Amino acid sequence: MDRNSSYIVNLICTNCGKDFNANERNGLCNSCGKILFPKYDLEKAKEMLSKQIIQKRKKYNIWRLHEIMPVKDEKFRLTLGEGWTPNVKLNNFGKDLNLNQVYLKDEGQNPTGTFKSRGLCAAVSKGLELGVKDFVMPSAGNAGAALSAYAAHAGVNAHVYVPKDTPKLIQKEIIHMGGELTLIEGLISDAGRVANKEGKKNNWFSVSTLKEPYRVEGKKTMGLELAEQFNWALPDIIIYPTGGGTGIVGMWKAFEEMETLGLIGNERPKMISVQPSGCQPIVRAFKKGDKYATPWDNAHSFASGIRVPDAIGDYLILNAIRESNGTAVAVDDSEIKEAMYSFAKTEGIMVCPEAAATVAATVNLTNEGYIDSNDSVVLFITGSGLTTPNDW
Ligand SMILES: *Cc1c(COP(=O)(O)O)cnc(C)c1O
Ligand SMILES: [Zn+2]
Repeated sequence: MDRNSSYIVNLICTNCGKDFNANERNGLCNSCGKILFPKYDLEKAKEMLSKQIIQKRKKYNIWRLHEIMPVKDEKFRLTLGEGWTPNVKLNNFGKDLNLNQVYLKDEGQNPTGTFKSRGLCAAVSKGLELGVKDFVMPSAGNAGAALSAYAAHAGVNAHVYVPKDTPKLIQKEIIHMGGELTLIEGLISDAGRVANKEGKKNNWFSVSTLKEPYRVEGKKTMGLELAEQFNWALPDIIIYPTGGGTGIVGMWKAFEEMETLGLIGNERPKMISVQPSGCQPIVRAFKKGDKYATPWDNAHSFASGIRVPDAIGDYLILNAIRESNGTAVAVDDSEIKEAMYSFAKTEGIMVCPEAAATVAATVNLTNEGYIDSNDSVVLFITGSGLTTPNDW
């Protein structure tokens, strides 16, 4: 096999186990309606992916471990420089909380200012390989901007449906990069219904969160990088702002694949999901011990990227939290706002509201004694504060 190719085998339903052809356009499982994940021949990939080989590679983007990414032909692998974001030790923030090993992964340095670049880079690239010319999605804004960027770069079309209250700057970002933007009355779930209808009618490829099997592969690279950046040892705790859940679910998949590849052992970080008090379906389901989350009524929060009332990946998010012995917590919008201001002054990094939610949650969990001073903790700063122009 060409050494630049992928070891993808097929797509497997995460719920019923049915398999699907990875050379054809697929969305959700046509038997049970749940999520499909790409599966790789990890035993073969193992020969190519020793720590020594990986560390010598010069490619610092999401295609670094291309063997376990879904795009077979190198010529379809787009890049705008996404991925391999800095892992920064937070001395001031750590000192204030009496934490000795607290880090952040600065996803704000991705091309479109958020970690959404990773997922859409992977999904648009795979779409190109499958011959797709039109992509459609509902978005809280950041995913739409990322889709528009990669679609423009590839010379194909992005159709994006966002709630009317999406920050103006993000709306402009989408329009300037040539995305076809439609404003929808209501929440992301309402935008989802319209995007779905229009997508079906026009035969556009849907890249709605977890409703296709490839964005998760882009997000997975956060977990791959983290392991390499920590010299193949994972931190004790990962704190992650959770909306649709691709980030947490993608990293969880990365850890499993890396264990099979022999790159890490069976230890796992505690995965901690953070949601806003005004929309916390995962937190509620976690506390109740439910396998699925019921939709959250009257969802509200200015952290719109994590204002997701009804996530199709609920069972996968809850599974990752539980298997990791982690937890799920909510923070108030007032705490998020306060964290945005204070964190910028403490560490010199402007964070978006979703990322500030992880900062606020870290403070609360430390004060409650959940986090110990010697735990190594990674906060996912999912986006830059520069993507948040409205009046905060
Ligand atoms: C989309 C988004 C999230 C939530 O991401 P999921 O992995 O889908 O849960 C968090 N932060 C920002 C900045 C986002 O844009
Ligand atoms: Zn199924």
